[in-house]
Amino acid sequence: MPHRPIYLDAHATTPLDERVLQAMLPYFTEYYGNPASATHQYGWEAEAAVERSRRILAEAIGATPEELVFTSGATEANNLAIKGVAEAYFAQGKHMVTVQTEHRAVLDPCQYLETLGFEITYLPVQPDGFIDLGQLAAALRPDTRLVSVMAANNEIGVIQPLEAIGRLCHDRGVLFHTDAAQAIAKMPLNVQTMQIDLLSITAHKVYGPKGIGALYVRRRDPRVQLAPQMHGGGHEQGRRSGTLYPPQIVGFAKAVEIGLAELESETQRLCHLRDRLWTSLRDLGGVHLNGHPTQRLPGNLNISLEGMDGRALLRGLQPHVAVSSGSACTAAKPSASHVLKALGRSDALAQASLRFGLGRFTTDAEIDQTIQVAIATIQSLRGMAVD
Ligand SMILES: *Cc1c(COP(=O)(O)O)cnc(C)c1O
Repeated sequence: MPHRPIYLDAHATTPLDERVLQAMLPYFTEYYGNPASATHQYGWEAEAAVERSRRILAEAIGATPEELVFTSGATEANNLAIKGVAEAYFAQGKHMVTVQTEHRAVLDPCQYLETLGFEITYLPVQPDGFIDLGQLAAALRPDTRLVSVMAANNEIGVIQPLEAIGRLCHDRGVLFHTDAAQAIAKMPLNVQTMQIDLLSITAHKVYGPKGIGALYVRRRDPRVQLAPQMHGGGHEQGRRSGTLYPPQIVGFAKAVEIGLAELESETQRLCHLRDRLWTSLRDLGGVHLNGHPTQRLPGNLNISLEGMDGRALLRGLQPHVAVSSGSACTAAKPSASHVLKALGRSDALAQASLRFGLGRFTTDAEIDQTIQVAIATIQSLRGMAVD
């Protein structure tokens, strides 16, 4: 195979784990039935696999199987949660609260709802990326129906205080949705202790297949009403129509199962690698950490470099390391990251930023090489390379 750059973009997607692939394979060619076919063995086999997977996934977040709705990923789960609640509770209020640092898959549905006459409050964050609970409490109104705050940020890795947010929302009778696309199987998540009413997850950020995700929808205390956004055959108790995709669902469950089994050891390993990368780069000087130093995803490092052209930096790294940058977060337009801007970073610092996403298959040697390449690139761009 030709030389390819070291993959350090685990927040964008992750490779499929070989064990996940093996679990999926029989469901492509052998057990190919439609889980909705109730009249024969082919359908029953597929349905049994789907329901086994649903139980595993529900248990992973402290939910019951009937509370999970399979979707095509976290984007669709977020759309279903936000638009589904907006529509179902339209008569009781048209105000929602979210945060400036959310993923576009939350911000864009909210902006769409604004065009329909809903009112959305976009909370600012503190310089370390946390929301202020006092500000959240103050933003809640009698007509507020939903609060949507992500579990872990996809750019800066910051983990929000879900339990405190859940308690506040429930005390005030407001539904709490969290986008946990980056968090599932990377940190403990429990919809009971955290008082979460809706939770979005996806498989491809945890070494599962792309194109499969789920939305958790609370059924008791309170029972969440949801208007479907996809109408058709009445699948998923009418909440999301469309034939289920057993290989993807089996792979999703397997991926989450493995992630949870290895959570502790992997957290330690990744934190160690990530911290080594951070201290090596920090020692160059003029390097800023974006986001909270410790309350963050284990594999996440996001830095801004002083006096540096972001595009030149990325160009220098590209042949060696696959990373993402705060200047190219949305593919189409090269604007500075809205997340880094919300932290209060200047345009210059937001543009000259790098997001490293370390994952399960990142090795010690790869981090050594990354440190070497990054230091060489930064020093040469600063015009102070020795030799
Ligand atoms: C990746 C991601 C999404 C989108 O998930 P898909 O399954 O790719 O649709 C949504 N939110 C966050 C925080 C993400 O990291």
